[in-house]
Amino acid sequence: MRAIGAHEDVIVVESRIWRTTATIVRSGEEAFVIDSPVFPDELEMLPSLLAQAHFHLSGLLARHGDWDHLLGRLAFGGAALGVAETTAARLRATPGEAQRELRDFDDRFYVERPAPLALGSVEALPVPGYCGLGEHELELHPADGHTIDGMAIWIPWARVLVCGDYLSPVEIPTPAASVDAYLATLERLEQFLDLAVHVVPGHGGAVDADTARRLLEEDRAYLTALGARLPAPAALPQGRRDPEQRRLHAANLARLEDLD
Ligand SMILES: [Zn+2]
Repeated sequence: MRAIGAHEDVIVVESRIWRTTATIVRSGEEAFVIDSPVFPDELEMLPSLLAQAHFHLSGLLARHGDWDHLLGRLAFGGAALGVAETTAARLRATPGEAQRELRDFDDRFYVERPAPLALGSVEALPVPGYCGLGEHELELHPADGHTIDGMAIWIPWARVLVCGDYLSPVEIPTPAASVDAYLATLERLEQFLDLAVHVVPGHGGAVDADTARRLLEEDRAYLTALGARLPAPAALPQGRRDPEQRRLHAANLARLEDLD
């Protein structure tokens, strides 16, 4: 697991699988962990990482309801989990889904965990809105389209945008919920790129604002190519044309055909 300091109050860690990111943000005596790494040893390291940095955990946040971002409570048993209202509604509507998908992943890769996942009390946060942390506030913005739910988190004093499964340097857009909503989210995120120093996508570490701007243009172009049903690799951005991205593209096309 890689960890980088994006700001004196922000640490970004990256899981060995899918380069899934978790972001630790501090203000004063409080700290949140946003999303989670995936493997048990990575989750086990989180509390000592916070202790070393003198960050004191006060809660967990998750950017959307996909299981691989929801594992924070495996590292911090009693912690409260805050999510967007849309994510809280999704979790209520599909009870046990995250646990089932985590179990499927663990079975497939022979991963053993000390305990099953319990999400505990999930707190629904109004989005758009603010979430207090120490002396500061986090800004919460809607970020749907990849899924039906989700939020992007703007950390104004650190100028870090923790944007959810968008603007990934390693993964093409997967608009599982809606292409139009995905495009609208990109537009919302774009407003922060002139202010941001770092952008933290769901997968692929932290990127600088110039890279995020390039990715945003590529992702817009990709969604247009997807709408025109262009096949891979023509549809795919440079640098994201590996076999896995072709597989994701085929899945995107199949999803659109189901809608036709
Ligand atoms: Zn994801």
